[in-house]
Amino acid sequence: MNTAFLSIGTNMGDREAYIKLAIASLRATEGIEAVETSSIYETAPVGLTDQADFLNIVVRLATTLDPLELLTVCQRIEQELGRERTIRWGPRTADLDILLYNDDVIEREELSVPHPRMRERAFVLIPLTELAPGCIDPVSGREFRDEPAMQEGGVVLWGAIVED
Ligand code: ATP
Ligand code: MG
Ligand code: MG
Repeated sequence: MNTAFLSIGTNMGDREAYIKLAIASLRATEGIEAVETSSIYETAPVGLTDQADFLNIVVRLATTLDPLELLTVCQRIEQELGRERTIRWGPRTADLDILLYNDDVIEREELSVPHPRMRERAFVLIPLTELAPGCIDPVSGREFRDEPAMQEGGVVLWGAIVED
């Protein structure tokens, strides 16, 4: 069994509903055996700032899927939830990114793991270290909770996932 962490972000429509639907789809996927969730955090957009605030969550998976199969699952769920690929970093109903896959370091055209921008993103680091406090970056060998970006403001606890 493999352990993977995903980041899910959404800033359109009923954001909580999109997060719940994404998690339900992960749970219904063959080869994904367990899904644990962080709390939900709200974050002002970075990069392209003229858009609605995001809800972000990190989930830990136990999975028999390999990394590329998992990427395909993420993209399928984005499609299911109606994500339109218009502007990079722009508004979206759901963005599912693979943060970590075991301690693997993957550099392929379609997949980089650890996610190359995760260390700079408080909206990733805060929920990740809530779920897995001592989690270590397989590239640097350092704990993610020691990253300077952890100290940035702008990421606010929004609520817990309430299971229906
Ligand atoms: P960012 O990657 O900065 O968070 P984004 O999530 O908005 O930006 P997308 O449009 O969702 O970017 O994805 C662009 C491409 O990134 C995808 O087609 C995918 O092949 C590639 N990609 C590379 N590494 C990863 C990863 N770890 N998780 C998800 N997608 C990845
Ligand atoms: Mg992303
Ligand atoms: Mg993405």
